[in-house]
Amino acid sequence: MTSQRLWHFFGGLRLAGHKAMSMKEPVKAAPIPKQLVIPVQQHIGSAAEPIVKPGERVLKGQMLARATEYVSAPIHASTSGKVVAIEERPVPHPSGLPGLCIVLESDGEDRWKELQPHPDYTELDPSALRNVIRDAGIVGLGGAGFPSFIKLNPGPDNSVDTLILNGAECEPYITCDAMLMQEHPRRIIDGLLIMKHALRAKQCIIAIEDNKKVAHTLLVNALHEHEAEFIKIVQIPTIYPTGGEKQLIKVLTGKEIPSHHLPINLGIICHNVATAVAVADAVELGKPLISRIVTFTGELLSKPCNLEVLIGTPFSDLFDFCHYQPKESERILMGGPMMGFIIPDNHIPVIKTTNCILVQDKQKTSRPPAMPCIRCGRCADVCPARLLPQQLYWYAHAKDFDKVQDYHLFDCIECGCCAHVCPSNIPLVQYYRFAKTEIWAQEREKKKADLARRRHEFKLFRLERKKQEDEARKRRKKALLQKAKDTGGTEKDSKKAEIEAALARVKAKREQQSRQRKNVENLTPQQQQTIEAVEERRRRLRNIGTTESTDKDSD
Ligand code: SF4
Ligand code: SF4
Repeated sequence: MTSQRLWHFFGGLRLAGHKAMSMKEPVKAAPIPKQLVIPVQQHIGSAAEPIVKPGERVLKGQMLARATEYVSAPIHASTSGKVVAIEERPVPHPSGLPGLCIVLESDGEDRWKELQPHPDYTELDPSALRNVIRDAGIVGLGGAGFPSFIKLNPGPDNSVDTLILNGAECEPYITCDAMLMQEHPRRIIDGLLIMKHALRAKQCIIAIEDNKKVAHTLLVNALHEHEAEFIKIVQIPTIYPTGGEKQLIKVLTGKEIPSHHLPINLGIICHNVATAVAVADAVELGKPLISRIVTFTGELLSKPCNLEVLIGTPFSDLFDFCHYQPKESERILMGGPMMGFIIPDNHIPVIKTTNCILVQDKQKTSRPPAMPCIRCGRCADVCPARLLPQQLYWYAHAKDFDKVQDYHLFDCIECGCCAHVCPSNIPLVQYYRFAKTEIWAQEREKKKADLARRRHEFKLFRLERKKQEDEARKRRKKALLQKAKDTGGTEKDSKKAEIEAALARVKAKREQQSRQRKNVENLTPQQQQTIEAVEERRRRLRNIGTTESTDKDSD
């Protein structure tokens, strides 16, 4: 262990861990389900766009949907089989709304597409590395789901001093990262080295909470093999939510990330340990992100565990595999007890950000009815983002979405500390999620309205331009008629005269230009001859063009 000075972040809670129950056995591979339901939106940013059609056969690892914009991530087939539908299905999201999914029927062969590994990542420059990571569909596996290649691109004006690998896993019950650190410590360091290469970072820190002693020891041993002096493994106090990006940076560096700023503004980048393994697999083995470790836990389960699950596996298949039958008296959460949400349907699929499935007793865990806010201020005392949760609640409740943003709603990390201590049992985080969703919806509507307005304005501009061109044409025709009348000729004669005059103007201009030619001094006789031959050809072509135009015009 490397000793390092540590700082405290504001607020937070000391919570019971409930972690040991799911760490008794090694990670087991969940079976390939008969049918996989793969949502096209499993990340922050724009949904991916399907590039396969129902009826199409696909191989494991084949891209099913491509990224549509910069902030987006492609989706891949988790096994080989046949696409049987592309339709809306229930998906894991706090809103409970369905989402577009690619439904894949497995053929049982689990046949990979041809992979393109890069065993020596140092042969790739940072930009090529980022492309590999982008095409592998890797997103932050700590829960946020932000496309990782973007966070591996500091931009031309930033340099990265410290790359932090987040192994804190601070939320109770969740142990998928702890198990990963115990079982694949070397792979984590492999991924960290690739990320360091992509970022050209000066130093790296792997941060682990001090309640994960085994994982810490195994990582320290793995690091000794690499002899990488620029990597430190640091144990940090177990305080929730120390795994939040800003909180972790504060603990490790003492630096506060101001509102509306990113860690890169201070030369810091944070990634999750599981993301590092996904990066190592993508670069060194050529494998896209098609599976992850999921903690399946809760006191009501006979055998809480960690499972390696293919993305798109329905929760219900995992329940069958673990011999668990959901009951009316229970509720199932995706995520932990602080930041998780109740799932709308037992058939929703595991996605890239599914770190935990938690089964709880409804009676023991349901909150008493909410009471009015008594302005006790306890919520503000524990808020790690130094917000005023009661004010946020007040304005979110009143649907005053301007005011709620003045109180920095978007700095809220939805950690749930405020709701946890509220004596009035107000479901504060639900109000913040509601306000965020509404604001995003309003912004989307505004963008749509702006686009429609710009299209309408362009249409009006086009119509006006056409009107002016028509009028100009009419005026020209009228003038020609008048000229023909004045000279006693026909309209055709006047038109011909106009064209001839225009051609004469062009010819005069060309001759002037050729007189002004440069770089023609001190030519050899041979060069002079070549130029004359070219000029002669040009003259001939011009004469032919003139004759043809005049002929056409007189037809
Ligand atoms: S903790 Fe609850 S009751 Fe107290 S101020 Fe905050 S919201 Fe109001
Ligand atoms: S949920 Fe938001 S407001 Fe509440 S304590 Fe966490 S960061 Fe603060």
